Amino acid sequence: MSNELESLRERIEVINDEILALLQERGSLAKKIGEEKRKQGTQVYDPQREKEMLNHLIDNNKGPYNDNTIKQLFKEIFKASTDLQKSENEKHLYVSRKLKPEDTIVQFDNGAIIGNNKKTFVFGPCSVESQEQVDTVAKDLADRGEKFIRGGAFKPRTSPYDFQGLGEEGLKILKNSKDKYGLNVVSEIVNPAHFEMADEYLDVFQIGARNMQNFELLKEAGKTNKPILLKRGLSATIEEFIYAAEYIHSKGNNNIILCERGIRTYETATRNTLDISAVPILKQGTHLPVMVDVTHSTGRKDIMLPCAKAALAVGADGVMAEVHPDPSVALSDAGQQMDLNEFDSFHKEIVQAAKLYEK
Ligand code: PEP
Ligand code: MN
Repeated sequence: MSNELESLRERIEVINDEILALLQERGSLAKKIGEEKRKQGTQVYDPQREKEMLNHLIDNNKGPYNDNTIKQLFKEIFKASTDLQKSENEKHLYVSRKLKPEDTIVQFDNGAIIGNNKKTFVFGPCSVESQEQVDTVAKDLADRGEKFIRGGAFKPRTSPYDFQGLGEEGLKILKNSKDKYGLNVVSEIVNPAHFEMADEYLDVFQIGARNMQNFELLKEAGKTNKPILLKRGLSATIEEFIYAAEYIHSKGNNNIILCERGIRTYETATRNTLDISAVPILKQGTHLPVMVDVTHSTGRKDIMLPCAKAALAVGADGVMAEVHPDPSVALSDAGQQMDLNEFDSFHKEIVQAAKLYEK
């Protein structure tokens, strides 16, 4: 190698080190700026400011790199700084594992828990239809040693002409059944004004997929002292899902259970696409328990069991599925609820599978 090349390369390496040192200094400053922005409640990304900085740099560009190259290089540097600020901000989210490394465990009066390396199940009909219907499922669940029952009394239906649920009457039916069978009751609330009324009937307030970004509902849920089962929105990103949980937590309620229930994609083979990867991502990023609803995600009884097993295998704290004494006459989701026979084999298998993963 010629001496000239060698010495040029040495000079380049010195410059690399200088650039690195400057980037480190810039990164530390960006972190401080991020901290100030957070205190002032200012957005991390400020396009106007970026534009001004880029214009200034291009005005001073004397080559040999052309303006576009300078622009691209500095855009990367700016992005690295905003990414740094965003990741620092995450540490300040109540639901973040960076803020609280230990798992949140949701506990119930009857000894049930969600989280703590246990696998917990929430089964029950899509809608509450009658006392007899709920009691039949509740008895079956209690006989199996289950601790929860679900059932919708306020149903967010696609068509206004479909069964909308029994309302408060439905909650009373659930409570009667709870008193007979000792199960914790999970039911959806769709109206921020209903939490107070529903408090005497329910053990867990569910917030459904369609309401994941109903911020007024989230804030009211945050003011209650009952666990909230928050379902992922139909087209919500994981980040949006986490921020929805943050709405609840920031109002004072830290008993939140996240529930992946499938998202809309172009795929039509299932009702929604079960995003199984959301489970470990949510477990890594938050300290909250995560459940998987295999009914509303798959919409297919023939694949519910393998999907439920997959959920447990990737670290879900539990599974939700719909069970109805006679699905053929169900007033909602008739095609995808298990009857008691189908449920019997599903239950036996999933309880076995859970043993593999419980610590
Ligand atoms: C439900 O669990 O009853 C329900 C309506 O589910 P989702 O909100 O996930 O559609
Ligand atoms: Mn349903």
